[in-house]
Amino acid sequence: MPRVMIHPAGYDDVRPAIARAFELFPLDLKGRKVLIKPNVLRGSRAEEAVVTHPAVLRAVVEKVESLGPADIVVGDNPGLFGYGANEQCFQQTGLMEAAKGYYRNIGNDSRSLPFNPDFTPQVSISQAVLEADVVISLPKFKTHGLTVLTGAIKNSYGMLPGAQKAVIHKAAGNPRRFQDAVVEVFRLRVPDLFIMDAVVGMEGNGPASPDLREIGVIMAADNAVAMDAVMAHMAGCPPERLPFLHKAKALGLGDFDLAGIQIDGELRTIPDFKLPSLGGEAIAGNAAIQAFLHSKTVLRPKADPELCTACGTCVSQCPAEALSIPEDLPQVDVGKCIVCFCCQEICPEKAITLQ
Ligand code: SF4
Ligand code: SF4
Repeated sequence: MPRVMIHPAGYDDVRPAIARAFELFPLDLKGRKVLIKPNVLRGSRAEEAVVTHPAVLRAVVEKVESLGPADIVVGDNPGLFGYGANEQCFQQTGLMEAAKGYYRNIGNDSRSLPFNPDFTPQVSISQAVLEADVVISLPKFKTHGLTVLTGAIKNSYGMLPGAQKAVIHKAAGNPRRFQDAVVEVFRLRVPDLFIMDAVVGMEGNGPASPDLREIGVIMAADNAVAMDAVMAHMAGCPPERLPFLHKAKALGLGDFDLAGIQIDGELRTIPDFKLPSLGGEAIAGNAAIQAFLHSKTVLRPKADPELCTACGTCVSQCPAEALSIPEDLPQVDVGKCIVCFCCQEICPEKAITLQ
């Protein structure tokens, strides 16, 4: 039976909850490559609760260190407002410091994989995700205008570098199909452990809403469907109303039936928790947001001749083989480019802009 831990915690005293998570869900980490992936939606202050709190990341990093030695990487690919600004987002949120020197820009090295052609024939995934022996996902307890809640399953959407996320948003076309696409991305590499920051959660029209709630717990599970089902119940949303949980169940990724989930801790519903409208109208019905998403999918990289040294790094790292240097400057094959923006992240001269 899947199990979900709900452990009381505050940001000044998060270690006992993290220790309990590793007790309940032990991992063999010695000598292994361990990727720790917080939710780094964008650059913001920790108290805005837009990202996983640095105190949670730090406690997890220290725990993993104590169970090693392991080859630790901390990384994520920020969303819409953080394309090409991976490092800045970690700095602004305080997650860089919390990563204790293990931060790596996982947006500048990716590999192309076949995907569900209903959305796009291929996607590019951060190489660090594919290389990891163990992936520890650190979602944040938040709402989301397209998926209602963004928890364990949705946190894996950050495995996609750059505007890959916007491409799939666009290809999905509506909130229901977007939820299916999120699950398709999740199952490309199912993480091994989920530790959710639910000390301060977000309600209202997330994922960057100003409406915050003190929840006061850390949650943990080794099954994302079970964790998100419990999260939904806490938020006052019956899990069976969430299409992405049905999709995940249909794909054999777990079950959202609470009767079949063992709870380690106290399961309660947060009174009057504000959900976005079911069906995703908060984002799908917002013409300005849709236009902004679309604008990101038509951007293409362009090298500045004043800065480019023709080193070829971007050409060798492009997962879609969309770049070449016919003369002294990289050129992009627009038909091949999958707008992952890895080239922009990796260019040592910061010569690539998006136009
Ligand atoms: S990585 Fe940067 S400097 Fe090197 S070829 Fe590409 S654009 Fe030019
Ligand atoms: S040229 Fe396109 S596909 Fe290649 S790394 Fe740059 S953004 Fe990604």
